Amino acid sequence: MKTEQMNFDRIILHCDLNNFFASVECVLNPELKDKCIAVCGSEADRRGIVLAKNEKAKACGVVTAEPIWKARQKCPSLVTVPPHHSLYHEYSKKVQEIYYRFTDQVEPFSIDECYLDVTGSTALFGNGEQIAYSIKETVKEELGLTISAGVSFCKIFAKLGSDMKKPDAVTCITKENFREKVWGLSAGELMGVGRASFEKLKDYGICTIGDLAAADENLMQRLLGVNGVQLKQYANGIDDREVAKYGDYEAPKSIGHGMTTPADLTDNDSVWKVILSLSAEIGSRLWDECLSASGVCISIKDNMMKTVSYRQKLANPTQSPTVIANAAREVFCQKHKWQHGIRTVTVTAVDLVDSDCFCMPDMFGDYIKDEKHEKIDSVVDALRRKYGNDSVKNAVLIEDVGHEKHDEA
Ligand SMILES: [Mg+2]
Repeated sequence: MKTEQMNFDRIILHCDLNNFFASVECVLNPELKDKCIAVCGSEADRRGIVLAKNEKAKACGVVTAEPIWKARQKCPSLVTVPPHHSLYHEYSKKVQEIYYRFTDQVEPFSIDECYLDVTGSTALFGNGEQIAYSIKETVKEELGLTISAGVSFCKIFAKLGSDMKKPDAVTCITKENFREKVWGLSAGELMGVGRASFEKLKDYGICTIGDLAAADENLMQRLLGVNGVQLKQYANGIDDREVAKYGDYEAPKSIGHGMTTPADLTDNDSVWKVILSLSAEIGSRLWDECLSASGVCISIKDNMMKTVSYRQKLANPTQSPTVIANAAREVFCQKHKWQHGIRTVTVTAVDLVDSDCFCMPDMFGDYIKDEKHEKIDSVVDALRRKYGNDSVKNAVLIEDVGHEKHDEA
């Protein structure tokens, strides 16, 4: 292995556990290791879908988000296992404990991904590439899991690097080699370029990350707003985002999304469209964090800048966007007294609990109906992840509301 000379201001790693859910299942049940396995939603009906798969299943063509029956057609020997979220949480924590041996700057990005800033660790552990290899080997030895690591001078390229070679690999992207290594890749590979944005960019001949780096700033602004300008900077390796320090990151107590609409909303129906869109994103975030919401809060800011909030307890903790959206609509329609047009709507999932927490179904809650929603939502969510946020929308959303979104976690 040739160690590349790295002349970094900062050394940032992005470590991504490979096929995380499926890998944990194999560690706990080594018999599965040599089989094609998929972690799947409920299989009782034909709507169950693949949530994660191991390399062997991947080699047979099994893909995330496809129905189990379809995966079985490609891979008749496929073994399916139900998800165990609390175990994934536990392993995620164990992996992070290993990361913390190398630096105190560890920032979880999702249950199976972390950014690490190891700039201050080189005296003890060697250069960035050597640290990445040490971490990778330690995780493999102690936990039986593999990771892909990207090593770079900024978050955006560290993240890109971890995707470039996997599983069980290290990719270094330096200030010297990033043009050669990165610019030839499809622009769709860059974090922040969703499918819809990518389609738009392609219409203007912006196909690769190199095209993005060279794109006219005004054009980017016009096509994708501030996000477009930022993407151009990212493609040039301009990314000052820091990696959070130890203790800075904690699991969110609530997860919310807000949207400011270009024109005032004046009726329940248009508010409903916004609620649906916001709830879809909240559902994805809850899934990422392995959390469920026990309550929903909807806040409204009217065109007189007055804000009101309504809160609703849920019968059962849920990750379901549909259940969250319905609760938000219900409480809004019950309590809101229309006086002025509405400018901003924020939906927040509150009273979050671990997804595996088994709560007694409320006798009066429509538990069965909720479960059905979960299945539909998980299909929608998986498709969104695969094809981008705009690929699957509730029918009512097809007509685009046009909006500016903001996080309120
Ligand atoms: Mg992963």
